Amino acid sequence: MNGRLGGRAALVTGASRGIGAAIARRLAAEGASVAINYSGSQSAADEVAAEVRSLGAPAVVLRADVSDPESADALVAKAAAELGRLDVVVNNAGITRDGLLVRMSDADWDDVIATNLTGSFSITRAAARLMMKARSGSIVNVASVIGLVGNAGQANYAAAKAGIIGLTKSVARELAPRNVRCNAVAPGFIETDMTAALPEGVREAAMQRVALRRFGTPDDVAAVVAFLASDEAAYVTGQVLAVDGGMTFV
Ligand code: NAP
Repeated sequence: MNGRLGGRAALVTGASRGIGAAIARRLAAEGASVAINYSGSQSAADEVAAEVRSLGAPAVVLRADVSDPESADALVAKAAAELGRLDVVVNNAGITRDGLLVRMSDADWDDVIATNLTGSFSITRAAARLMMKARSGSIVNVASVIGLVGNAGQANYAAAKAGIIGLTKSVARELAPRNVRCNAVAPGFIETDMTAALPEGVREAAMQRVALRRFGTPDDVAAVVAFLASDEAAYVTGQVLAVDGGMTFV
């Protein structure tokens, strides 16, 4: 693996499992030191850190609930302090609380917005302060194709992910003069704990819409995040790149 991120320091939220864990491993493989954030799965986060270290990259494990703005601020400060700098932030932490609109509780709406959207805002705001000062940085937000096209039963999640896309574009415009880039990936159907619980009928229906006729892997998403984080994407900002096997292109 080349060293596209050699000497850089990265914070990945929700990196104990799934897509976030794959992103942490990939950024490390490309030379970055990595802060691995989790909220509940400590032993899984420790395992990811061990994998990162086995790739020769420094790793720290930081517990924080990104839906709490004070915790999000502290997480960014701690990541920068422990790694000595902060060049890359990946807002990956996310949850689903699916349900049809008329039956969706206020709590299910609030929890999804707080973790996915407010969490990304709080982390981005704290990181922006450091990156603007450094006049360099790359923020990558993990949105979803659901934020582009919507989905029955996911009004909360779709609103949060569409919000992340608006956040990404606004932050990209605001921070560009300070040489800080902000982009998003919009994964399609990726095999993780989040999608494992879906009924077979839903999985089959989703597969019918995937042009490449396979579900994505966390590594498929991590590869695109690493590109956007790196200087190879130095002239790319404000973009939303679908990583969906051809599910949503027009
Ligand atoms: P996952 O396997 O369920 O993992 C979610 C991760 O987020 C875990 O590491 C979890 O940590 C962390 N997390 C949850 N709430 C958190 C909080 N409040 N603070 C900090 N960390 C928190 O999910 P995934 O499938 O890898 O999804 C990762 C991201 O990709 C999400 O933003 C998701 O919306 C997005 N995405 C996924 C798919 C897909 O098909 N899987 C498609 C499009 C977009 P703990 O275990 O420690 O709680």
